[in-house]
Amino acid sequence: SRQFTRPLNDLANQFNMILSAVAGAERVFDIIDQSEEEKDEQYANRISNVKGDVRFEEVDFSYENDQPTLQNISFQAKPGETIALVGPTGAGKTTIISLLSRFYEPTKGGIYIDDHPLQDVTRESLRSQMGVVLQDSTMFHTTIRENIRYGKLEATDEEVEEAARLAHADEFIRQLPGGYDTVLDSDGHGVSHGQRQLLSIARAMIADPSLLILDEATSSIDTVTEMKINDALAKLMKNRTSFVIAHRLNTIRSADLILVLQEGRIIEKGSHRELVKQNGFYADLVRTQMAENQALS
Ligand code: ADP
Repeated sequence: SRQFTRPLNDLANQFNMILSAVAGAERVFDIIDQSEEEKDEQYANRISNVKGDVRFEEVDFSYENDQPTLQNISFQAKPGETIALVGPTGAGKTTIISLLSRFYEPTKGGIYIDDHPLQDVTRESLRSQMGVVLQDSTMFHTTIRENIRYGKLEATDEEVEEAARLAHADEFIRQLPGGYDTVLDSDGHGVSHGQRQLLSIARAMIADPSLLILDEATSSIDTVTEMKINDALAKLMKNRTSFVIAHRLNTIRSADLILVLQEGRIIEKGSHRELVKQNGFYADLVRTQMAENQALS
């Protein structure tokens, strides 16, 4: 339903900046260096071998001082779990991801990764543990091969192709006249929207992150490609803690933990089964979606 659809433009831009930075675009490094909020605390350490335990404890946040954007956000994601963030546009889903990625700091409360307070961890090492598949994942003006390699700059050609195979991208890539050497323009023209998603899944696959951020596609993608995307995502999400900004009931239903957000607060949290039993907002949502699906069929 339409109220749940909104591209995560800000977040996408921020992550794309990081990707470009990783790729060595000096200008972007300059921007990051100049930004005061991007300076790590002196005591911050690199984090590695992340298990993927993520905890928010009574987190408050506001972009502007007067208006609270998030209030009293608490939840725990255990390693490998899938957390679905559900709620209308403006509810705060993207902001939770932005705080987890440390693009902003909570005004109150704490965020922990594997029991380390987030501010004890350098931003670069934190983000290197995060894979991101967004609706509008950026492609760079270079070959498909290099676009996938952005996930892991030292990857061999064999690793690139293996990741593409796992992501069901290998087949369509080989059918392109230039194959893996096909040059994309920065809008990703030359490949379809769905194929771009498969490429961004391959890019995340090769990065092998402990944490995943997924923004479920809402735009129309043909059924065959959609099945490939779903299968590739399932493989990608296996054994990684995944945060999904979810739009489809099927995805939400299978999450380990559903956070239902409204106006910056978690109004319900639990599994599908638990929330249906509560018979509140989520149960209403499920009924509405089922009615919509029936109307369509
Ligand atoms: P969702 O992802 O659920 O649609 P967001 O986290 O994007 O919600 O937004 C939560 C609230 O914060 C909204 O009222 C939105 O307008 C506001 N907001 C989002 N990003 C910014 C920003 N960069 N500056 C100021 N306000 C913002």
